[in-house]
Amino acid sequence: HTVLRELIDLKIKNPDMSPSETLPDADPNVFHKRHLKEIRDLGEGHFGKVTLYQYDPANDGTGERVAVKALKQENSFMPDCWMKEIEILRSLDHINIVKYKGCCAELGGQVLQLIMEFLPLGSLRDYLPKRKLGISQCLMFAQQICQGMDYLHSMRYVHRDLAARNVLVENDGLVKIGDFGLTKYIPEGEIYYRVREDGDSPVFWYAIECLKESKFSFSSDIWSFGVTLYEILTRCDQRQSPQNKYAEMIDPNHEQMNVMVLIKLLEKQLRLPCPKDCPHEVKLLMENCWATDPKQRPSFQSLIEKLEAIRR
Ligand code: ADP
Ligand code: MG
Repeated sequence: HTVLRELIDLKIKNPDMSPSETLPDADPNVFHKRHLKEIRDLGEGHFGKVTLYQYDPANDGTGERVAVKALKQENSFMPDCWMKEIEILRSLDHINIVKYKGCCAELGGQVLQLIMEFLPLGSLRDYLPKRKLGISQCLMFAQQICQGMDYLHSMRYVHRDLAARNVLVENDGLVKIGDFGLTKYIPEGEIYYRVREDGDSPVFWYAIECLKESKFSFSSDIWSFGVTLYEILTRCDQRQSPQNKYAEMIDPNHEQMNVMVLIKLLEKQLRLPCPKDCPHEVKLLMENCWATDPKQRPSFQSLIEKLEAIRR
């Protein structure tokens, strides 16, 4: 893996790097643990824990604030997928994708942390419930997500975990996609990636073919975008969460929610309801994202154009 290789090479070139070093500012992508001053926790998901630090090599409180992602303790044996997540983020460069800053290695490279830019307003899940966002700002955020996703798809990556919790807010006018933990590369000429994973999958954001056949494609990201758009329009109100709304569609006396039950709902053409102040054109757009046939769903490119037209 390139990231680790570079860190190791650097160590070989500067064997006394760890205890006391004066030269290392050479590589701006290498962060040294002892200059990282912890400020507070930012959040955690299934795999990682993200913490705010100040990186202060001058030790005078002038350093910049950075977000540091580490694998949760139970995952700390550093599996391949964690290295892949770092490599993928490092290779991306777009205004609507969280910016990679570097890595910090500990214990001789056995533990690797990902350093990225800090987005002060947290995820859409943190941000939306606290504000009274108007519909036009909602649609602007939606369009920015589409722009980031269109770029990601142009690099032949499927995200597989697009959701409000994984969209970060820079300010009232800018959002960025974060968390590439489930992202997969789709080789040229292929149309989907087949994954078998147990538990912990974000099933309420999954397209029907992901639930039934574990097939992930550019079109299944479109379905997840539809759910993310639904979350934005409900301002991430927990009572209206996808999970709660799907649960309301079943008879609790006869069924308990699980993947089979969810598949049955979707096969009956049941979908998440139209949020309260959602314009009719946006409702149609959302439903288009949830077409049973993946080929019927729009691309991010066409979503950008449609959102642009609706916002005008
Ligand atoms: P996981 O892979 O475990 O889901 P995420 O990368 O989604 O981890 O991060 C977990 C949470 O941490 C996010 O939902 C968000 O609230 C917060 N977070 C992540 N990255 C940043 C960042 N760069 N700036 C601010 N908050 C962040
Ligand atoms: Mg996440």
